[in-house]
Amino acid sequence: MLIVMKQDATPDEIQGVSRAIEARGFKAHPIPGAQRTAIGVTGNRGAVDQPVFESLPGVFEVIPVTHGYKLVSREVKPEDTIVEIGDVRVGGRELVIAAGPCAVESLEQVLTVARGVKEAGARLLRGGAFKPRTSPYSFQGLGEEGLKILAAAREETGLAVVTEVLDPEGVDLVEHYADVIQIGARNMQNFSLLKRCGKAGKPVLLKRGLAATLEEFLMSAEYILAEGNYDVILCERGVRTFSDFSRNTLDLAVVPAVKTRSHLPIVVDPSHGTGRRDKVRAMSRGAVAVGADGLLVEVHHDPDTALSDGPQSLTPKMFATLMGELRQIAPVIGREL
Ligand code: PEP
Ligand code: MN
Repeated sequence: MLIVMKQDATPDEIQGVSRAIEARGFKAHPIPGAQRTAIGVTGNRGAVDQPVFESLPGVFEVIPVTHGYKLVSREVKPEDTIVEIGDVRVGGRELVIAAGPCAVESLEQVLTVARGVKEAGARLLRGGAFKPRTSPYSFQGLGEEGLKILAAAREETGLAVVTEVLDPEGVDLVEHYADVIQIGARNMQNFSLLKRCGKAGKPVLLKRGLAATLEEFLMSAEYILAEGNYDVILCERGVRTFSDFSRNTLDLAVVPAVKTRSHLPIVVDPSHGTGRRDKVRAMSRGAVAVGADGLLVEVHHDPDTALSDGPQSLTPKMFATLMGELRQIAPVIGREL
């Protein structure tokens, strides 16, 4: 349920409504907007007594929310959410590009790539220290040592770090080092992980599951917001289809579909979305053109020796070329890079 306050509602009235919600054992989520404040209600099983809330001072209207998600919806918050990571703002006019290796392999590797992508204009450094690999015999990541390497690269370059957490037990450690916690595609419906990240003090980058519908994707984000963490960035990374010429099918149409339904920012991962570096450039250009708020791109200084996802990794030089192209596209659609 959503309680829309009158434009001239006072802070006391807003607090009064929140208290009335909480007195019934529900959770109140006040969402200030440009025109008015709305208060999302979660934790209720079934319908809430609408007239009771309609009669409270300062209330304009009470809207039942029919989707399985509420807090992520545009109904609740018409304005775009901007997720702030230090001085980087995801969801505003500026496109935010995160780039870096699939997996952290060594300090030298991460520093080489980080310097390259920073010079080309990336704002965030990506790299996995805990890797969700299909085979248990594939490289699983360096663990905490990898997180320390990422922190060292941040120290040197100033780039904020996006890195994946695999399970709820790992969140304490990952959030200590990361600026953005990544939840991978395979974990999109790991509900205990979503809930734990909802209590984390860092923004979350939530990747779409391998076969997740848009509704399921948004409901997973809802789990995080419902626990009180409103800083969620969605990420389209391709889904499984019958199409067999690429690793996944990058669903760029989901970007405008998310934008109509949700206020959350969405970035696109053209690397996992295609699986081949020769397609990453074209799909990156497409992603920016359809309105993505940024990209997550895999870059490796020597892709042939990469311990994971070499075939889809760009070299720093290819990445720089791509950034030059994106800089030309951005202003055409009212964005900056
Ligand atoms: C990754 O970003 O390296 C990764 C494992 O992505 P996904 O969860 O989308 O497969
Ligand atoms: Mn990867």
